[in-house]
Amino acid sequence: MRRQAAATLLWLLTYLADASAAAMLDLPRAESVPGGIVILNLHREEKPLYAVWRKRRVMLVQRRGRWFAVLGIPLSLPPGRYELIVRYGNRSMRPVPFIIRAKHYRTQHISIANQRMVTPNKRDLQRIYRERNLIITALSRWSDPPEISFDFRLPVKGRYRNSFGFRRIFNGRPRRPHRGMDISAPRGTPVRAPADGLVVMTGDFFFTGKTVFIDHGRGMVSMYAHLDRIMVRARQPVNQGEQIGTVGMTGRATGPHLHWAVSLNRTMVNPALLLRNKGRR
Ligand SMILES: [Zn+2]
Repeated sequence: MRRQAAATLLWLLTYLADASAAAMLDLPRAESVPGGIVILNLHREEKPLYAVWRKRRVMLVQRRGRWFAVLGIPLSLPPGRYELIVRYGNRSMRPVPFIIRAKHYRTQHISIANQRMVTPNKRDLQRIYRERNLIITALSRWSDPPEISFDFRLPVKGRYRNSFGFRRIFNGRPRRPHRGMDISAPRGTPVRAPADGLVVMTGDFFFTGKTVFIDHGRGMVSMYAHLDRIMVRARQPVNQGEQIGTVGMTGRATGPHLHWAVSLNRTMVNPALLLRNKGRR
């Protein structure tokens, strides 16, 4: 019993040290689970050329002279041991192993009056397919600003419960899990950029309604869905706190709210991990 308590204490101290180190170093909060973010200290001062995992380029950032990989983990990934490949000059290649633990996500039942939003017709499906390609293109964007900041603010003043990862059943039919955070607020509430970036794309899509995508650099792209109004356009730089639109319920939404999503290496991750302590609920 005593040994168990000591182990728990050790785990807690390590966890707190990691969490405070992450906050001091301006890194996201790490959570090595499906839908989480893995942070790997490369323990080398040499600048890597690039890092790759599952054929996708992975973000690298320098903090206090050291290099870190910041890696988005898909919700669908089975727990287990994986390897990031880091490439240095002179063709040297280094595998960096990491472990993904299991995480249980709740199941949520949702009723939608508009049956087409649950089982789209043939024309809807063609539209959805077209839009999915546009969205993948926006999320695939790679830019390389000199600095990357993870100091994100909540984009809307409102209530949120962290429903990221919930398995969703619409009108009794299982659909894709929830890959963002929902923040409830009255229609018309300002939506603000949570961090500096560049607007990559705006549009009006079947499922996500009026939507804005912001590139924050090195494969980190954020998304704002179900907007009532869009107030920015593509290729426009935005600063943290700048208004990009208003809360609405366009697309597949049961009430006015912002659906906020963040993608790393083209993988939707839990946005709460970018909110420091404020996101811990
Ligand atoms: Zn949502």
